[in-house]
Amino acid sequence: MKITTVFLDRDGVLNVNKSDYLLHEEDVSIHEDVPAAIKRLTKAGIQIIIVSNQAGIGKELITRRTAEAIFDKVICGSEANGGHIDDYYYCPHTPDEGCNCRKPGIGMFVRAKLEHDIIMEESVFVGDGFGDAQAAKHLKIPFYLVDQGWGPVTKVKCDAGNIPYIPVKNLGNAVKDIIKRNKG
Ligand SMILES: [Mg+2]
Ligand SMILES: [Zn+2]
Repeated sequence: MKITTVFLDRDGVLNVNKSDYLLHEEDVSIHEDVPAAIKRLTKAGIQIIIVSNQAGIGKELITRRTAEAIFDKVICGSEANGGHIDDYYYCPHTPDEGCNCRKPGIGMFVRAKLEHDIIMEESVFVGDGFGDAQAAKHLKIPFYLVDQGWGPVTKVKCDAGNIPYIPVKNLGNAVKDIIKRNKG
């Protein structure tokens, strides 16, 4: 089965996840492997969708406007080699709000599926957080766990909780595997 959509977590996958919240545009730092990986997916005709928890908005640590400026910068940097990210979704709520969009909830994925005609059976998710791993499990889609950001912590939690994942160094390595699958 061919993979036609790749969902991406943002912080820790595309950009360096330095602390809990990325609050300033000038702190955006794109992982080195990312622009080439995004270009590779685009060239292969694979749709790319970002799904990101941004509870800093709900906690009033950051405005929506700044949050979106940061998204612009992350996307722009990720597309630097000529790749294209199709869309991004974020959950602005705090964990206490009990929304259904915050990962491990699947609200953002469901919305993306409707808006972009995504076939879930042909999708994978790349992330660094435990909520990412759990969301992928709920969706029954393969989960690539990067060894960056929360990755090492998440690996321990996944092992303890029997949550499946495919370990990779970074997005570049996940993309290598995705392209190989599509050729196989
Ligand atoms: Mg993350
Ligand atoms: Zn939400």
